[in-house]
Amino acid sequence: TDPSHIRNFSIIAHIDHGKSTLSDRILEMTGTIAERDMQAQLLDTMDIERERGITIKSQAVRVSYQADDGEEYQFNLIDTPGHVDFTYEVSRSLAACEGAVLVVDATQGVEAQTVANAMMAMNANLEIIPLINKIDLPSADPERVRAEIEDALAIPADDAVLASGKTGVGVHDLLEAVVYNIPAPTGDANAPLRALIFDSYFDPYRGVVALVRIVDGSMRKGQRLRLMASGKDILAEEVGARHPVEEPLPELGVGEVGYLVTGLKDLVHVKVGDTITLAEGGVDNPLPGYREAKPMVYTGLFPIESDQYEPLKEALEKLSLNDPALLWEPEKSHALGFGFRVGFLGLLHMEVVKERLEREFNLDLLATAPSVEYHVFKQGGEMMSLHSPQEMPDPGEIEHIEEPYLKAKILIPPDYVGAVMDLTVARRGTFVTMNYLSQNTVEMLWEIPLSELIMDYFDKLKSNTKGYASLDYDFAGYKPSQLVKLDILLSGKPIDALSFIVHKDKAYDRGRVLTEKLKEIIPRQMFEVPIQAAIGGRVLARETVKAKRKDVLAKCYGGDISRKRKLLEKQKQGKKRMKAIGNVEVPQEAFMAILKVD
Ligand code: GDP
Ligand code: MG
Repeated sequence: TDPSHIRNFSIIAHIDHGKSTLSDRILEMTGTIAERDMQAQLLDTMDIERERGITIKSQAVRVSYQADDGEEYQFNLIDTPGHVDFTYEVSRSLAACEGAVLVVDATQGVEAQTVANAMMAMNANLEIIPLINKIDLPSADPERVRAEIEDALAIPADDAVLASGKTGVGVHDLLEAVVYNIPAPTGDANAPLRALIFDSYFDPYRGVVALVRIVDGSMRKGQRLRLMASGKDILAEEVGARHPVEEPLPELGVGEVGYLVTGLKDLVHVKVGDTITLAEGGVDNPLPGYREAKPMVYTGLFPIESDQYEPLKEALEKLSLNDPALLWEPEKSHALGFGFRVGFLGLLHMEVVKERLEREFNLDLLATAPSVEYHVFKQGGEMMSLHSPQEMPDPGEIEHIEEPYLKAKILIPPDYVGAVMDLTVARRGTFVTMNYLSQNTVEMLWEIPLSELIMDYFDKLKSNTKGYASLDYDFAGYKPSQLVKLDILLSGKPIDALSFIVHKDKAYDRGRVLTEKLKEIIPRQMFEVPIQAAIGGRVLARETVKAKRKDVLAKCYGGDISRKRKLLEKQKQGKKRMKAIGNVEVPQEAFMAILKVD
């Protein structure tokens, strides 16, 4: 296709502002999914897409659009995940585009990821088309939202498209705006190939598939290509476009977006952000890359049944093939046995991976409370990265400890400034600055320890602001902090998997709240179970789970065997998510209770 008839763009938005629904309408109205049987297939793909969308993958879809000027255009639409855990995913999708459609919900207005995504698009020098969505809703206030886009983002919004992804109103206007406002790709068709890898995934039948944007030259089936970062040469087994069903093509031309089947069997050589050129007569200067995703949150994953250790390892290996952000190493716990310490981009990423391990690989897992990576500086200057509270050296060996901080941006209506202050100061946040984005929206900037943020902060923020607050964050660096390891003891024995690291001023409160919570969560056993919170042997708080009063079986008077068996069967199912620690049965919630601090 002639580059003048190509438009490459992303749809970006805060979560739930209607990105996916709008994409569906675009596919429908361009006839990409006109046929009946096509529709079923598309919905399947969309299911996977949704799953991939929140795990790791953006999706690229090619549609052709017959514009009002009578010409046919090739649109490459790159859908992006909206959640803050996957911000890096968005930035790499944007690098493959000339434009972005910024979707803003007409009832919600500008929110934290609206700002974050708009900034990313501006930094990538993209042409931005603002679109005010959901105008079919009675509470829609497009004029207020138009003003917010101008005030808060400094994006002219006079020509913002007014649309509803639900009814299809305004979608035609959007498609025309894409043709007229988003620049056609520029690139040298006659130069040697330079293509950007903006995504990759592992296909069990064909090996690694890369999603690429051709910047210069073209890419043909059968060519020998070079991955510039690793220097690895490959054969282009197949190239093509996704509609989203894959359609093989003889070549991808300059400016086009498509897929490449590399024939490689693992993802290590296919680095997202790398440049592909020709194996012979290629270029020497790669395109600018991306920074690699780095895990922020670590958790222990342990099989409930110890014979599931190997299956868990295999499952993690399989998931890593499609998720380069997933890091893991073996971990041993006295309480839980053999498992893995796994690093994630954030809590959502963690939940998704755990759910996939359980659903797709049929594993029963126990997850310990997430923690962050601490930097422990030992006497003598050696620094160790701590991924698990268990690895904490004795206090005598420690010179000082540093913990990761975030720059947090919170958008709220002015009435809630006080509520956010109270909550965030209580979470050791440092106020940086605040300004009005519009009459209805205040932007507050904070520095807050990541460890405090993962403790239920977002839920608290939402509930303390009647759901109005939105939050975005970025890594700010490491800072020294007075941290201690808090041990939890059951029946007098420290349980390594329940210990956690906490600021020394919070240790007493958190210890007290947690022992109270654990008392509620740990079911009564045949004997009394004392629960203690302690720092280095000094007990801060204590509760007791009283012994069970009656044996369930006592009711059966020893007679009816089948009834007895049924009762035992029932008990067993109730125990599914329990793990025997010593002689105490501990349910999964006990580990997560650490996160619920007040
Ligand atoms: P995304 O997270 O940005 O992809 O948002 P979705 O497309 O998943 O939409 C979030 C919710 O808003 C869903 O319940 C949609 O049905 C709803 N929604 C999306 N677009 C519209 C619209 O134009 N009008 C109305 N009334 N609801 C919409
Ligand atoms: Mg969506």
